[in-house]
Amino acid sequence: MTSPLLALERADAFYGQSQALHGVSLAIGANEVVALMGRNGAGKTTAIRTLCGLLRCAGGRRLLDGADASRAGPEALNRAGVALVPDNRQVFPTLTVEENLRMAQVARRRAGGPRGTWSLEAVYALFPRLAERRAARGRALSGGEQQMVAIGRAVLCNPRVLLLDEPTEGLAPLVVQDMIAAIRSIAESGVAVVLVEQNMRVPQALASRFYVMDRGTVCWQGDAAALAADIAEVERLLAI
Ligand code: ATP
Repeated sequence: MTSPLLALERADAFYGQSQALHGVSLAIGANEVVALMGRNGAGKTTAIRTLCGLLRCAGGRRLLDGADASRAGPEALNRAGVALVPDNRQVFPTLTVEENLRMAQVARRRAGGPRGTWSLEAVYALFPRLAERRAARGRALSGGEQQMVAIGRAVLCNPRVLLLDEPTEGLAPLVVQDMIAAIRSIAESGVAVVLVEQNMRVPQALASRFYVMDRGTVCWQGDAAALAADIAEVERLLAI
């Protein structure tokens, strides 16, 4: 990889006095799907919150396009094309699917975020189920439909890198397959993706590089060939 699009270099992060990341280094290249795996509490969410500026990089550095962005906040990083889809999805319950999506378009225009090709129609083509449900209120949506709205909103901001926190958690197997196909389409459109998952199943279908975290550190990393060669060790690191 030449200069990565987004990276952490020996990053530390804290919740109050409590240190949650210890010298974490991660790099995401343009057009790459990278998986961040680990058990419950390993530090995955903390790492992507630090990548997107919601948490301060207390030690080490955050790099964007090879330049120091350690002091950049979440708005600046979002304008620069870093988008987070949190695991709680945050769909507005009283707004319809279409209103939820349009809010993202309005926010993008106001913030002067990156220009690009994602339109409502493109989101509906990505998730045909959302087109059928466009008039349904957020509160009436299934978990999978909420996840689709959350991802749809994020891509409408024309991100360069999309950080997805456990996008398939709690979804029915058929919906997981649809979600994998949609994430693949997003990646093929040129968006880099960081995929946070507790296990290897979804990452193996999508990612070309893999990180495993444990207790706030990166304890294993490698590409698909390294993962295949070291599968027993990675399974051990992910076992509960
Ligand atoms: P999960 O799969 O449960 O989301 P994770 O790998 O994403 O796990 P994190 O949520 O990043 O893990 O948590 C890492 C550590 O930071 C844990 O010890 C957790 O208890 C702690 N932590 C997370 N959020 C907070 C918070 N808001 N305040 C204090 N400690 C926190």
